[in-house]
Amino acid sequence: MLIDNHNRTINYLRLAVTDRCNLRCNYCMPAEGINFAKNDKLLTIEELKKLSSILVGQGIDKIRITGGEPFVRKDLMELLRYLAKLDGLKDISATTNATLIGPYIDELKSLGIKNINVSLDAINKATFERITRRDQYDTVHNNLIRLISEGFNVRINFIALDGQNTQDILPILELAKHYPVSVRFLEEMPFNGGSKTFQKITWDYKKILEHIREAHPDFYKLESPSTSTSINYKIPGHMGTFGVIPSFSRTFCGTCNRLRVSATGDVITCLYAKPSANLRDIMRSENAKSKVEEQILKAVGSRAKTGFEAQEKYREVFSNSMTSIGG
Ligand code: SAM
Ligand code: SF4
Repeated sequence: MLIDNHNRTINYLRLAVTDRCNLRCNYCMPAEGINFAKNDKLLTIEELKKLSSILVGQGIDKIRITGGEPFVRKDLMELLRYLAKLDGLKDISATTNATLIGPYIDELKSLGIKNINVSLDAINKATFERITRRDQYDTVHNNLIRLISEGFNVRINFIALDGQNTQDILPILELAKHYPVSVRFLEEMPFNGGSKTFQKITWDYKKILEHIREAHPDFYKLESPSTSTSINYKIPGHMGTFGVIPSFSRTFCGTCNRLRVSATGDVITCLYAKPSANLRDIMRSENAKSKVEEQILKAVGSRAKTGFEAQEKYREVFSNSMTSIGG
């Protein structure tokens, strides 16, 4: 089992499989993209399999596949097929922009991978295209409805962006009215590849909740697991639920159970921290397993207690894009 230096059990890995993406969400990266890693700097599928197996051996029992956009990686299903059979791994999930997932939906279902987070920051097509800088709304919407109809456990992630999409907060809740889906509103974080700088946000989780309360005064709070980053609610009469994720206010750090590995092999123990180690060369060396285990124990043994503490130590982290961290 992995226990950090604040006595928290670390059992959840967010594994980025690429830093590439076919969208250019303006809160995530600049229009021209970022300096994407060279191919030989990305972990291969064989390395991702081996690394997952080592980490599951150390106590990880939940892996979320992220990126970049995970489905731009043509060999992704090979990794997912492997993970689906990996002893000790109880939960496999993915976070996606839902542009490219269509052809894989049947196989994901047959592999038992049912927890899919779809990033959708607008229900209005023009707003979606302005934010993502791409013309993919219809594909995303169709794939989203297909995933829900096929019985996947779908959660929509919507980043509340001042001046861009907050007029869509109430309309997107209509999806939760008619479908068994969870719509989660996230605070914007300062990881955008340098497309802008900010020290505070206008739309924090309290403002989002107040805004929803004006239209739905009778929503009530639901019980959530202690390690959950979202605070979840139900509006009476809705099939689904909604939630807020205070990713900038960081109210949830105390129970954090996460470890992140980037597509280039960086070990990240907190979103707001600099990488603790890089595993790529280690994975390519002799005795990789024991060396990786050692690096992971070291990283987990020296985690910042909160995102504020991590940020205090590593200020320059703000030039990062979430596409290289994995969200
Ligand atoms: N491409 C996939 C997607 O968009 O779902 C997976 C990778 S994306 C980096 C993972 C998550 O990070 C998405 O939900 C995205 O909205 C979120 N994200 C990206 N940049 C962000 C930022 N500056 N603040 C908050 N969340 C951000
Ligand atoms: Fe791509 Fe996801 Fe970043 Fe949007 S948020 S640019 S879909 S990685």
